Amino acid sequence: MPHDELKQRVLRANVALVEAGLVTLTWGNASAADRDAGVIAIKPSGIPYDQLGVENIVVLSLPSGGAIDGRAKPSSDTPTHLHLYNAFPGIGGIVHTHSLHATAFAQAGRELPCLGTTHADHFHGAVPVTRPLTEAEVAKDYERNTGRVIQGCFESLRLDPMDVPAVLAHGHGPFAWGKTIEDAVENAIALEFCAQAASLTWQLDPPACTIPQFLLDKHFLRKHGPSAYYGQR
Ligand SMILES: [Zn+2]
Repeated sequence: MPHDELKQRVLRANVALVEAGLVTLTWGNASAADRDAGVIAIKPSGIPYDQLGVENIVVLSLPSGGAIDGRAKPSSDTPTHLHLYNAFPGIGGIVHTHSLHATAFAQAGRELPCLGTTHADHFHGAVPVTRPLTEAEVAKDYERNTGRVIQGCFESLRLDPMDVPAVLAHGHGPFAWGKTIEDAVENAIALEFCAQAASLTWQLDPPACTIPQFLLDKHFLRKHGPSAYYGQR
């Protein structure tokens, strides 16, 4: 079957989000891009996870989102995913959840600062929160505008989406991404852990401050980029 491997990976990623405790009810979706083939595969809309199979993963063209394969309707957040694939050419997978602690930061309209090395291992600095959408942006092209506001957030902060592979959509919840969908799942799990850890840290010590830049750089750059040395060769 065409794009079968891509669909299998998308299915596995969506199931992994449930198993990691990041998804309640159907509040989550994951997609993967095959940029050489010019397609993305994404979870269908509103199908319970226990009924999710490779046969209802939807394949769409990139960049326009035209239907390629699959009978189900794609996730309602598909325009956000498409916008991010087009805006951020380095990413190959996107995960959106309403995981509890990251969602709490999004609802508070607060960025997630880097309070420790766990955060620094995955995100080279604070995970930003977007501005709220306007009434007009919500009324028309809401999901596409969610992607536009995320792109605008990274542009205004001059952030490389590969250095900080996640965002908190204001009043909504987290989006995470990565070179692959497997990386995106890992970043979504890391984001939720760091958001929970930050909440607990502030309970213990309300003014707990961020780690110094040299420690942040050390942890991020030993795992990412040309000088990375963490893990097996
Ligand atoms: Zn959502």
